[in-house]
Amino acid sequence: MLPTLDIKYLKGIGPARASLLSKELQVETVGDLLRICPYKYIDRTVIHRICDLREEMPFVQLRGQILEFEEEGAGRKYRLKATFTDGTGYVELVWFNGIKYIQKSLKVGKTYLLLGKPTLFNHRFAFSHPEIDDADNPAIMERKMQAHYHTTDKMKRAGFASKQMGEAICTALAQLRPDAIIDPLPPYLREKYALPDLYQALCDLHRPLSAEAVGTALRRMKFEELFFLQLDILRLGLNRKRTTQGFPLRRIGDLFNTFYRQYLPFPLTEAQKRVIRDIHGDLRSGRQMNRLLQGDVGSGKTLVALFAALIAIDNGYQAAIMAPTEILAEQHLVTLRQFLHDMPGIRIELLTGNVKGKARRTILEDTERGEVHLLVGTHALIEPKVRFARLGLAIVDEQHRFGVKQRAALWEKSSPCPPHILVMTATPIPRTLAMTVYGDLDVSVIDELPPGRKPIQTVHYRSVDRPKLFAGLLHQLNQGRQVYVVYPLIQENEKLDLQALEQGYVALSEAFPQYKVGKVHGKMPPAEKDAAMAEFVEGRTRLLVSTTVIEVGVNVPNASVMVIENAERFGLAQLHQLRGRVGRGAAQSYCILMTRDELSQTTRRRISTMVESTDGFVIAEEDMRLRGPGDLEGTAQSGLPIHLRVANIIRDADLLATCRKAASEILRFDPEEKLPQNACIWQHLQHLKKLRENFSGIS
Ligand code: ADP
Ligand code: MG
Repeated sequence: MLPTLDIKYLKGIGPARASLLSKELQVETVGDLLRICPYKYIDRTVIHRICDLREEMPFVQLRGQILEFEEEGAGRKYRLKATFTDGTGYVELVWFNGIKYIQKSLKVGKTYLLLGKPTLFNHRFAFSHPEIDDADNPAIMERKMQAHYHTTDKMKRAGFASKQMGEAICTALAQLRPDAIIDPLPPYLREKYALPDLYQALCDLHRPLSAEAVGTALRRMKFEELFFLQLDILRLGLNRKRTTQGFPLRRIGDLFNTFYRQYLPFPLTEAQKRVIRDIHGDLRSGRQMNRLLQGDVGSGKTLVALFAALIAIDNGYQAAIMAPTEILAEQHLVTLRQFLHDMPGIRIELLTGNVKGKARRTILEDTERGEVHLLVGTHALIEPKVRFARLGLAIVDEQHRFGVKQRAALWEKSSPCPPHILVMTATPIPRTLAMTVYGDLDVSVIDELPPGRKPIQTVHYRSVDRPKLFAGLLHQLNQGRQVYVVYPLIQENEKLDLQALEQGYVALSEAFPQYKVGKVHGKMPPAEKDAAMAEFVEGRTRLLVSTTVIEVGVNVPNASVMVIENAERFGLAQLHQLRGRVGRGAAQSYCILMTRDELSQTTRRRISTMVESTDGFVIAEEDMRLRGPGDLEGTAQSGLPIHLRVANIIRDADLLATCRKAASEILRFDPEEKLPQNACIWQHLQHLKKLRENFSGIS
């Protein structure tokens, strides 16, 4: 543990700066301060020459003298300038505020070390508000790599910028007694993973002697955060497994066996069998199942869901399948009924917002009486009005659109135990996210597509390639295939987007007069939409122009081409979903990504990821990487039980995996949390939890 001394007692801080640090950076104690991580280092052993300066240099260090000062302008334009030279040339220094202090402290003719970013101004390099130190100060000469810290605008205005932060941290470091620190990571663990102790790491983090030292220190700080994060999550999962009872669904009964032997139209893939075994293992255990099923588009998750439901029903319980949209729920119902034909002994019903009046009342009553065995629906299923006689299993499809809250609402649907829960996702969740946000769930993966599927070929065409596109489409149509053409539609741009879709529809109708073209978008009356969809499914229309309404739900094996217009406007996950609509039959399928001619670098990378890979996991990871520190990362990080200051679950994915392993080993060897060598670990975890409680109490 680091000192929990209030930061205001640190020399040079005081109450005003302390409250600033608390408000702006959530730094309350000396320990918190020491854990702040520099965002970059500048090598102070390198001194540049003015004659070598280039505009693209980020930061340079000069050694020289001020020749003269000059005041300029008045009022808001008032500024102080100085001419600085090192004998190889001249640069200009500029200050807009704090001028009195500068004039008092800097002297003409004295030798200074200057640090700043050069900008070219009137053919001369200028530095605004450079960092200046006395070159003869011995402390300065000792410095090698200089740490720089992020501060907020408010802090900078109050005169507490990176430099002052560095000074405060150095003061804290100097007062630190190495033997008074309790390292949260015990020596045997540090040795195993080649990590320096906390004191060494802090010294190297803030006052490093080399870039390697920084690397090692950073790794240690990140390791600690990620290790405790994983420990917390894994412990939660373990405790829940130990304590949460579940309905024991042991029997593999008549429905399951009859379906498997007589109705199943094709053999299951090995992956499907393995996952069904995982699920049965959970269901029979007497503990509540919380399992995440990941499988790429088209990997056959629906069938796995059906087998799971049959186990529940065979044991005298009801099952529910919940989908994020009405179209998908309806599609599930159709698919399930097709699989089951008229197999006796099982009643399936649909409950969405579209089911109204008497039909709805009947379904609700029969569900409550236990006469509906499998209820398929949308969010409607978690409404309090929907009551089950004995809900044993709830399946959630496409988890990423489903809030944690909604998942929790499912728990209330049955007693005395919560139902078993199976979460299925078609957008593969990158491993790193699965390990953290869903880290308390058990994970099964379907990593194999049903046999006979040819990998979809993806090509990128720009608008200049349109003639090639049309030639290719004609070839496919002549072979009897069907084609999807998808346009983006976003609310802010709805009018223009619909216009583009209409124009595309006309252009295709004119280009292929011999083939019938259909059209579907969300703004059409539902009846018209359904009719257009049905025509395409039956093969009467050969081309279908649409918005992303077809993203989920339709299954037309004869469709072999997916054209995505303005592909640059779609996210990677969405492109992957759309592409998954083809390649469902035996024919070679194609996905054509149409974009405008000029593309930004990230867009080019996104498109080429799609062209190069059909692996949903690769695409999901790349998606995360490209979105960078954006929204996804934000939500991923903010949903964590432990606040991360240094580590990042996406960029530090490899280390995260190592930490997960380390944490699970500790839990395996010390399940009672009693081994003396781990005392520091459990103590620190308690401390972190207390912090979290205090914090959530405030916000
Ligand atoms: P997912 O929901 O995982 O995207 P689906 O459950 O919709 O995939 O399955 C995609 C298609 O593959 C469906 O047409 C389904 O009937 C078919 N399918 C599923 N399992 C198999 C299998 N073992 N062999 C052949 N086809 C399968
Ligand atoms: Mg599906």
